[in-house]
Amino acid sequence: MFLNGERVNKKSTMTVKSPYNHQIVGTLGRSDEKDVIQAVENAQRGFKLLKRMPAGERASILQRTAQIMGDNKEDFACTISLESGKTIREARGEVQRAIQTMRLSAVAALDLHGETVRFDLEGRSNKVGFYERVPLGIVCAITPFNFPLNLSCHKIGPAIAAGNAVIHKPASTTPVSGVKLAEALVQAGLPPEGISVLVGPGSTIGMLLVKHEAVRKISFTGSLEVGQLITRNAGMKRVTMELGSNSAVIVFKDASLQHVAKKVKIGGYALAGQVCISIQRVYVEQDVADEFLRELSLQAGSIKIGDPMQDDTDMGPMIDEGALEKASNFCEDAKKHKGIVLLGGRRDGPFFLPTIIHESTEDALVIQEEAFAPIVAVNTFTSIEEVIDKVNNTKYGLQTGVFTADITKALICAQKIDAGGVLINEIPTFRVDNMPYGGTKGSGLGREGPKFAIKEMTEEKLIIFDQLP
Ligand code: NAP
Repeated sequence: MFLNGERVNKKSTMTVKSPYNHQIVGTLGRSDEKDVIQAVENAQRGFKLLKRMPAGERASILQRTAQIMGDNKEDFACTISLESGKTIREARGEVQRAIQTMRLSAVAALDLHGETVRFDLEGRSNKVGFYERVPLGIVCAITPFNFPLNLSCHKIGPAIAAGNAVIHKPASTTPVSGVKLAEALVQAGLPPEGISVLVGPGSTIGMLLVKHEAVRKISFTGSLEVGQLITRNAGMKRVTMELGSNSAVIVFKDASLQHVAKKVKIGGYALAGQVCISIQRVYVEQDVADEFLRELSLQAGSIKIGDPMQDDTDMGPMIDEGALEKASNFCEDAKKHKGIVLLGGRRDGPFFLPTIIHESTEDALVIQEEAFAPIVAVNTFTSIEEVIDKVNNTKYGLQTGVFTADITKALICAQKIDAGGVLINEIPTFRVDNMPYGGTKGSGLGREGPKFAIKEMTEEKLIIFDQLP
């Protein structure tokens, strides 16, 4: 764990192991209840310092953090790849994005402002007034395993930009990247009280933070189940929930099927499907379904599985046994729901093979729930109304992709699909770090992207002036 500006060694430790070969990636002190109290006390002091610090100085700290991350790109990438099992190429991409997220947070710090308020609604008034955006206080960032650096930056960057202090609870499988990020922040000049990283189980350490009355905001990224538990226990706190999905792609028959298949290969199997906006469902127009399936099978069949640290590996292992079992269960359930496994459908050691399932019924787990695995279910449709109903008929709604050259169909889909984002001629897995990102329904509450997240990390403070009589 990271407290008072440094890594803290303790008798009780957490050993982080590679999901690929169980090599030890790091051993960190395990936080307990006393550490939660210490982190909150530190953050109370840190908040006093940060809210008084000029925005320009906070922006400079974030810029310098980005610089330090840039100077140590390969070290960050190796840490991410080793602890999460994503490929080194994917990890390098994450580091690059994390640097960008910190830079965008620095910009958000300088851009944060309120506006004036009118008082002459019912006649003349001597009053003038405005509101400014002020930081909330202590922000607790709870992050998942799949993007251990960039998703931490999406919370910590905007929180500090606004003048909050942060307590970070990273996923137990991937806490080392979070500790390295905290080290970079302090090296860049952040007061040590401004950031703590508590390492320990979410069900105990995370829940203590969720229930702590001094914490003003929980910014959570993770599963719907844990998100629901957190919202039930958070009490009088702001919450941002970036949750899961079973993202869909609609392929109309006028789309280039080869192009879409290439894109689905990226969106369905990157990070072994362990991405919140991974493509899980493809709805392809009936007339071109066979051709599309041939193209997709070729693409998915060419994915090279192996050691994530090798430059030529396309797909690494699943995070743990639980994830492998869940993926197998989804495939078994799909078969019981008339699904035909065209590719993969089983594990191979720590890997789950790239999988295509065709024509399972709409009540199968692979259609309704989040697989978080390299499984793509391909179903067919014959009308736009039918496919929009199918896409919407789940509890999630993060991002959806639509491929067509027909602007009317594209517009109808954009307007009628219930999702945080509808991407025309792009896969739902597309994300750049400045866009408003988040879901509807079971996919979440609130938006990330530093410009948007910073608003959720602040509140309006109203100031009114009048003349003395
Ligand atoms: P998870 O099991 O929900 O865990 C996420 C975080 O919550 C971890 O730090 C975890 O700690 C902590 N946690 C667990 N139980 C808790 C509790 N009772 N109180 C407080 N914190 C608790 O998710 P994951 O398996 O790491 O990540 C995969 C999920 O994240 C998927 O559903 C995916 O879709 C979602 N995700 C969403 C987005 C998005 O932006 N919408 C992005 C990435 C991932 P421990 O590790 O110690 O259990």
